Amino acid sequence: MTGKRVVVIGGGVIGLSIAFHLAEAGVDTTLLERGVLGSGASRATADVVRSYFAGNPVSSALAVRSLDAYHAFPHRPGIDLPLRQVGYLVLFTEPEQVSAFEADLPDQRAAGVDVGLISAEEARERNPLIGDLPLLGAAYSPQAYISDTTAIVSAYARAAEQAGARLRTGCPVASIDTRAGRLTTPDGEISADAIICAAGAWSGSLVRCAGVDLPLTEPIEQELLTTDPLPRGTPDIPVTLHAASGLLVRLRGDRLLIGMGYPGPDREAWRREVAVRLAATYPSLAGVALHTAVTGLRDASPDKTAFIGHHPGPPAFLYATGFSGHGLCNAPAAGELVRDLYLDQDPGFDVTALAMSPQRTG
Ligand SMILES: Cc1cc2nc3c(=O)[nH]c(=O)nc-3n(C[C@H](O)[C@H](O)[C@H](O)COP(=O)(O)OP(=O)(O)OC[C@H]3O[C@@H](n4cnc5c(N)ncnc54)[C@H](O)[C@@H]3O)c2cc1C
Repeated sequence: MTGKRVVVIGGGVIGLSIAFHLAEAGVDTTLLERGVLGSGASRATADVVRSYFAGNPVSSALAVRSLDAYHAFPHRPGIDLPLRQVGYLVLFTEPEQVSAFEADLPDQRAAGVDVGLISAEEARERNPLIGDLPLLGAAYSPQAYISDTTAIVSAYARAAEQAGARLRTGCPVASIDTRAGRLTTPDGEISADAIICAAGAWSGSLVRCAGVDLPLTEPIEQELLTTDPLPRGTPDIPVTLHAASGLLVRLRGDRLLIGMGYPGPDREAWRREVAVRLAATYPSLAGVALHTAVTGLRDASPDKTAFIGHHPGPPAFLYATGFSGHGLCNAPAAGELVRDLYLDQDPGFDVTALAMSPQRTG
């Protein structure tokens, strides 16, 4: 027991992972969530956990470490987590995409990612829905799984409480004073020896009060679409990204779940673009009806890498935000790193790459 009180702001998958790891280490932990647990971006994910993040070996290394933790979930925090291995396929249609892959490969391998270049023929074998678009090859990583975000959120919440953490929902933090170690909520002021911001897309203004200017984009709305049921006998396919357009598909039950960038203000135009790209990449799906599956607000950093950092105290201030569309893939490692930074333990990871720095302002 450290005897010091830590307050975590945000009850998404990141804040809950942090609360679990701190409470498990004996730290007196309180988490404040303005709504209900898992009601932010963590409500909207595609449930994909994977290790390969092209051109971003730092995020890949966090994801490799997180995958190890997800595989160990039956032991800690102690649930049988669904992890259906489907693999991750990135389709290359331009020579530059292949050269960029090859240039990035040594760093990905050093980060522990299992990924390789496969032929167009093998890509079509792995995803038989791909049509005859001119394909130069593909990246394939077997380390990609379909999981269950709600189960992960609940498991961390339950284990954090069992380890002694207090999880307060319906408790919005209006402001923080990091010099005094004080947070203002509608229920009154709360004092803390350390404040940790894990408020997802809403972190920017909160950390600004602490004198940390994280260049997070404004929360961006992202939408996932789903098709009608596909014909019986549709084969299982890897999570597949068409690199040039950003069209990302995976099977969910008997339907396809589809994402492609951000809808922007003209949602109908975006939907038409998705339909055109879907038909060009998967001709058997031309004309299939598309419906909204989910929308969610997403945070993003300029280099698509999380910000995780520590301003030692007392009182201390830490942040873990800006996960840029891969918070689920990074959550276990984020909890471990924040715990180790707070406890001044070796995190076994070069955290300088994650802290706010002028080089990362984009
Ligand atoms: C459509 C979509 C699909 C995605 N699919 C995937 C995927 O398949 N795999 C993947 O790895 N990632 C995916 N992501 C990204 C992933 O959802 C996020 O990176 C992750 O959920 C971020 O978790 P978080 O805890 O940082 O944020 P959130 O889940 O947003 O949690 C932040 C919490 O802070 C609370 N909060 C905010 N302000 C305050 C305040 N002032 N006081 C108290 N509480 C506050 C919010 O209510 C919220 O619950 C997807 C995102 C979207 C939008």
